[in-house]
Amino acid sequence: MKIGVLAVQGAAREHILCLRKLGVEAVPVLRPPDLLDLSGIVLPGGESTAQWRLLSRAGLAEPLKKALEEGLPAFGTCAGLILLAKEITNWPEHYLGLLDVAVERNATGRQVDSFEAEVEVDGLGEVPAVFIRAPAIRRVGRGVEVLGTHDDEPALVKQGAILGATFHPELTEDLRVHELFLNLCRKE
Ligand code: GLN
Repeated sequence: MKIGVLAVQGAAREHILCLRKLGVEAVPVLRPPDLLDLSGIVLPGGESTAQWRLLSRAGLAEPLKKALEEGLPAFGTCAGLILLAKEITNWPEHYLGLLDVAVERNATGRQVDSFEAEVEVDGLGEVPAVFIRAPAIRRVGRGVEVLGTHDDEPALVKQGAILGATFHPELTEDLRVHELFLNLCRKE
């Protein structure tokens, strides 16, 4: 099984390492041909505005959207979740618009407000998580399942083969959320 990690900007390397620890082939995605033969793709954290600009410049925005619409499983963390969301409450545009949630960018404030906390995940219990200028999920559409919460707010959501997290699981030693994503990729 080969998993791509969008690598135009942000925490791609950390996701690649987590996936390799779990025994799957993990490759950076920088150009449209990198999307071929993937069983899933991770959209890492970073800066969503910069990521979108770079994605568009690399000619990746449209082929990525098409691959996701055709059912390629995706896991967006933090900025990656923002790229996937249908609505960004405090931003004039949205990007891929495939995950039926409304997110508020930078809901946890400035860089210095970043923190570590536990996310309560269905079937896994408490999972350690790092929040860095994290988005908050303010609305969840009818087809979206909330799989994990932090302070009773949604932190990990799933719609079909798309998984979105407000936090960074790749910055901890705990690989269970990545494992959950791989299970989703195996099913598709
Ligand atoms: N604040 C970033 C954004 O709006 C997301 C932060 C992150 O990915 N850690 O895109």
